[in-house]
Amino acid sequence: MSQYKYLLDEKSIPTHWYNIAPDMAAAGSPLPPPIHPATHQPIGPEALAPLFPMALIQQEVSTERNISIPDEVREVYKLWRPTPLYRAHRLEQALQTPAHIYYKYEGISPAGSHKPNTAVAQAYYNREAGIKRLTTETGAGQWGSALAMACNFFGIELKVYMVRVSYQQKPYRRIMMETWGAKVLASPTNETNAGRSILAQDPDSPGSLGIAISEAVEEAATRDDTNYSLGSVLNHVLLHQTVIGQEALQQMELAGEYPDVVIGCVGGGSNYAGLALPFMRERLVEGKKTRFLAAEPEACPTITRGEYLYDFGDTAGTTPLMQMHTLGHTFIPAGIHAGGLRYHGMAPVISKLVADGYVQGRAYHQTKVFDAAIQFARTEGIIPAPESAHAIQAAVDEALAAREAGDRRVILFNLSGHGHFDLAAYEQYLSGKLEDYAYPAEKVREAMAGIPKV
Ligand SMILES: *Cc1c(COP(=O)(O)O)cnc(C)c1O
Repeated sequence: MSQYKYLLDEKSIPTHWYNIAPDMAAAGSPLPPPIHPATHQPIGPEALAPLFPMALIQQEVSTERNISIPDEVREVYKLWRPTPLYRAHRLEQALQTPAHIYYKYEGISPAGSHKPNTAVAQAYYNREAGIKRLTTETGAGQWGSALAMACNFFGIELKVYMVRVSYQQKPYRRIMMETWGAKVLASPTNETNAGRSILAQDPDSPGSLGIAISEAVEEAATRDDTNYSLGSVLNHVLLHQTVIGQEALQQMELAGEYPDVVIGCVGGGSNYAGLALPFMRERLVEGKKTRFLAAEPEACPTITRGEYLYDFGDTAGTTPLMQMHTLGHTFIPAGIHAGGLRYHGMAPVISKLVADGYVQGRAYHQTKVFDAAIQFARTEGIIPAPESAHAIQAAVDEALAAREAGDRRVILFNLSGHGHFDLAAYEQYLSGKLEDYAYPAEKVREAMAGIPKV
């Protein structure tokens, strides 16, 4: 008898994070190392030491398959983990599809998304290393709020550079961060060289994740008591998110099914990696035939239109070079409501899996994404984050293809967060004012011309 939801008890919270690096290497898809922008040689751990505690740097380059989760981190996870897995019976009915649709819901965390899974781990390792202050960037405010909560638990001060367009569109996320004790600024600011140089070119700059990262990195690199914390892209961030997929494996077993296709939205790639990598392990190591789909905005189509090259992680060009899908580190996407998907690059792990044909990209316009969000809210009840709605749209496409083909495929997607602080975007959609942005081919060409030659 099929149920609506599949729940696990606290004992089922994973005891380890899953590191896919050794399994990718064994499958003939080794991860290219980050390199120094001047020498083009692989960077050593010391290059990252001004920004991150050594425990996280070790995780970044680890070749261990399983990395144990500290007890204190697991204790905090118990506030909201394990998260539920739902079967979307009502959505299936509305779509008249023979497909079975499952979703893992990360929106039940106190911050409303998957992001606390890594925020808590990062705050913990920084506190263990004696760090008193962190800086970070945030797009829609999801990462900033997750880290604000985590820093508050571990007694660390936090300063957040929030992308200006989101700061204006989403005041409640700022207030959440302040409630948990963080200081929040609209980026670009006048407080850093990176921010001042952007404002000199464009005083009305809407900001971007790339710019905000430059500002947060600059401050952390120039202060001894301060480290930097990143909410996506890096290996250690994806690693921490693998609790999602490890739980989902257990829950799909409870449901007596196995996914034919695993779907998520991708900004920097962390929530999707969190769900997908434990299933990817079963494809790489055990020969499962699972397909993997990553959904992104047409206004920032990193994996569907970007190139797989070495590029900077930030706009000012201060980070090491990483090989990834990129639209160019100076590319500033239009102010779509899925603020968390406005990043020029992509996690090197996801990029490599795309380049080697394991993951396929799908790009969607935001009005279509909101059609899916509304249909989901009206069938399943949960009002999704605009980012997560990209994954819903991809799942709906799969369900409709299953109807066409008359097959009973099993679809699993990650519902990375709720949209309770995105209601201004819903209002625009409901009043017919939400616009689509054409793919900005000219702006991307300009930005791609600025990528360093390696
Ligand atoms: C930040 C965010 C994303 C995008 O970031 P990833 O690192 O790609 O997961 C997606 N969904 C939600 C709800 C977010 O907050």
